[in-house]
Amino acid sequence: MDSNNSDFDLIKRLTETPGIPGHEENIRVLIHNEVKEFCDEIIVDKLGNLICVKKGSKDKPKILLCAHMDTIGFMIKYIDSDGFLRIQPVGGIDPRITIGQPILIFHEENIVNGVIASKPIHLLEKKEREKVKKIDELHVDIGAKSKEDALEIISLGDFGVFNYSCKKLSHSVITSGGLDDRAGCMVLIKTLKELKDVETPNELYFIFSVQEEIGARGAITSAFNIDPDIGIVVEVAHGIDVPGLKKDKHGDISLGKGPAIDMGPNVNPKLFKYIIKKAENGNISFQLRVHGRATPTDLRHIQITHTGVSTALISVPLRYMHTTIEVMDLKDINRTVKLLIDVLSKLKKDINLKL
Ligand SMILES: [Zn+2]
Repeated sequence: MDSNNSDFDLIKRLTETPGIPGHEENIRVLIHNEVKEFCDEIIVDKLGNLICVKKGSKDKPKILLCAHMDTIGFMIKYIDSDGFLRIQPVGGIDPRITIGQPILIFHEENIVNGVIASKPIHLLEKKEREKVKKIDELHVDIGAKSKEDALEIISLGDFGVFNYSCKKLSHSVITSGGLDDRAGCMVLIKTLKELKDVETPNELYFIFSVQEEIGARGAITSAFNIDPDIGIVVEVAHGIDVPGLKKDKHGDISLGKGPAIDMGPNVNPKLFKYIIKKAENGNISFQLRVHGRATPTDLRHIQITHTGVSTALISVPLRYMHTTIEVMDLKDINRTVKLLIDVLSKLKKDINLKL
């Protein structure tokens, strides 16, 4: 298997494994199995964060790297007498992309197929054609004949995900749901593997965090526990290189041009400069992004842990975020891995991050 195929195999397994906020057990097991031989210690904390420790030649600085392993999904909130279900989103689900989608519902050890129903276009009133239905106006059809029949195979509170699959597009471009932030998870997994025989001058904590999509809850507890000197979050950044989006409004981030590196109050400017220098010295293409406030990522909480953490945000460009057809270039994942390795393998205690 060449590296392109093994990269595709890994991202496909990562994106097609469920893990909505509060139900990250399946994806945690997958990532645990991928990384266990590459770290010195693995901890699963009370919230379910997976914390992989790689000890260095020194125990300082403590560097926390974080990617969230939860993805958006929903829960079954009601079953009507005819056996149709109603759902509640867990995380930011866009109602426009919900209608007509196949879904998977996880009930104990079983997986139940369902569809989010759509009224046939022929039967729509004129007003209905112009309006997007809210998620709580939609119903899920699992083929059940009654509430009792439905309760044979599912329960109230079961969680579900859209039934998408990861596919190759042209070149090294892929499409899937869940790339936010399984792409970041893949970056951390590959970085851990590549650092296997590298002695780093620092102690590394790779956090695969839970519940980011409902308020960065896993990052809050894991960063508090570790109390790091430096925190780097690996996320996804909106690709603006598509029709209908304006670069002058949203920033100039494209697929295939390397990771986006953030500037702004959520980022330590000296750490930012250090990372940019590593990218330039390593001939790693990168893009700049400006965030004038706390970023909508785990980073906004990690930065203000205890007495404060020096933080940075590195993001893989991604089109169509929070849909079932997110699009990403695998080359950008590998450039982000290379950048992290260059940053981590030399980052010493005497780095001056004082403001
Ligand atoms: Zn994310």
